[in-house]
Amino acid sequence: MNILYDSTRGGEKNITASQAILKGLASDGGLFVPQLFPKLESSLKELASMDYRQTAFAVMRLFLTDFTDEELQDCIDHAYDEKFDDPAICPLRQADGSWYLELFHGRTIAFKDMALSILPYLMTVSAKKNHITNEIVILTATSGDTGKAALAGFADVPGTSIIVFYPKDGVSPVQEKQMVTQKGNNTHVAAIRGNFDDAQTGVKKIFSHTELREELMQKGFQFSSANSINIGRLIPQVAYYVYAYTRLLANGTIREGEAVNFTVPTGNFGNILAAYYAGQIGIPIHKLICASNSNKVLFDFFRTGTYDRNRPFYVTTSPSMDILVSSNLERLIYQITGKDPAATGTLMQALQEGGIYEITGPMQEQLSMFYGNYATEEEVMETIRRLYESDDYVIDPHTAVGAAVYGKYKEQTGDATPTILASTASPYKFGRSVLHAVDAAKYDSLNDTEQFYALHELSGTAIPDAIQELMQAEVRHHTVVNPDEMEQDVRDWLYSSHPSKNL
Ligand SMILES: *Cc1c(COP(=O)(O)O)cnc(C)c1O
Repeated sequence: MNILYDSTRGGEKNITASQAILKGLASDGGLFVPQLFPKLESSLKELASMDYRQTAFAVMRLFLTDFTDEELQDCIDHAYDEKFDDPAICPLRQADGSWYLELFHGRTIAFKDMALSILPYLMTVSAKKNHITNEIVILTATSGDTGKAALAGFADVPGTSIIVFYPKDGVSPVQEKQMVTQKGNNTHVAAIRGNFDDAQTGVKKIFSHTELREELMQKGFQFSSANSINIGRLIPQVAYYVYAYTRLLANGTIREGEAVNFTVPTGNFGNILAAYYAGQIGIPIHKLICASNSNKVLFDFFRTGTYDRNRPFYVTTSPSMDILVSSNLERLIYQITGKDPAATGTLMQALQEGGIYEITGPMQEQLSMFYGNYATEEEVMETIRRLYESDDYVIDPHTAVGAAVYGKYKEQTGDATPTILASTASPYKFGRSVLHAVDAAKYDSLNDTEQFYALHELSGTAIPDAIQELMQAEVRHHTVVNPDEMEQDVRDWLYSSHPSKNL
């Protein structure tokens, strides 16, 4: 079956997977979605005997139908190798009566590595397939983890450049240091004076700026995105939900066909949408539990049917979820309008203009698979401490948002369905918050290096290479700009770093 992609806003239709990956965002501002959902071709039992790479191949080939099997296999082999510090790639760990799917064993110790270690390969194959000779400029807004994972993935990849914008005061110290120390002549990192939504809005503006696009095209550049608006980010993520389900089948926790719940700490709605896609292709799912931090727009949305970003913005200990406009929700909205681009466009326009929209009753009825709730900062800290004390298991604040919300869900519903929680970052990435939660009096006064060793003792896990490298790395990126200067910054850097193209 050949799968083609349409924009959620109707402006582009019948786009191949490789074209959709190259473009990132559709030119009408919409997101690319598959025209229909393929179905898994192997039985769940067969999938249960596959390793991660085989599972990724079985899932991704369903969506990327203009890639040859050989091309796809090659991308997978390059992506999911010894860069991951666990041979399972994403091991499951049982704690507190549920299963933690550890998605943080890649190079930058957050789940973004799961997709961003393969995206550069998908992108270069796509460029070749479409006879693109321009340099591909990856333009990315980050709430902290995407930026580093994308930089690590694209650094020194021939034919590409990567530009990352992050909110100056909206990322953790480790996240910031990881980005500003990035090597590679094709990398540029700029802090903006604003929050993640400002960064994301600025990037979307640059994408839809037609004159700029033409100006750069003439000089041999074209933009693409490494954000989860890119379908090339989303599809690799579907694989680990299939993998997680089939591990529980393999270890006898569930019978073939029995449904599970997935709990996902959510920001931009990419990760949980991938779980929804896994359900669409044949993974039996009871509930998708959407966990928010104090920025609880999604909780309110699932409860009321109104999405309203007009509210205070909180900086929390889970910065990668400090988001008021969850871009990927547009894909779900499109689905529940019955794939109506006009209706989707109207809602998104209302969001852009007034920061608010309301879905219809029939649309809301189609969201019954989703359960939304949120965790306060206190609940997050308490959850980290509780899990450490009961199970000797140390989790990061994002994962703790998921665990806290899952606790509320169980209490409210009494549902005993086996549940897999997406564990989205290594505790080492947010060490200060984690140690503060466990024992503030004991750990708060330690310096950075001492904290890493303290975490090592607490968790009994090795200090990841990503952290070891960070302790000696040199700062290479110093740019700070206002949101309205982002476009000029893109020009300045591209032209100064490519003197031969600056004609
Ligand atoms: C990006 C991120 C999230 C949120 O994922 P979305 O796909 O944006 O919903 C949660 N936790 C961590 C650690 C992240 O890096």
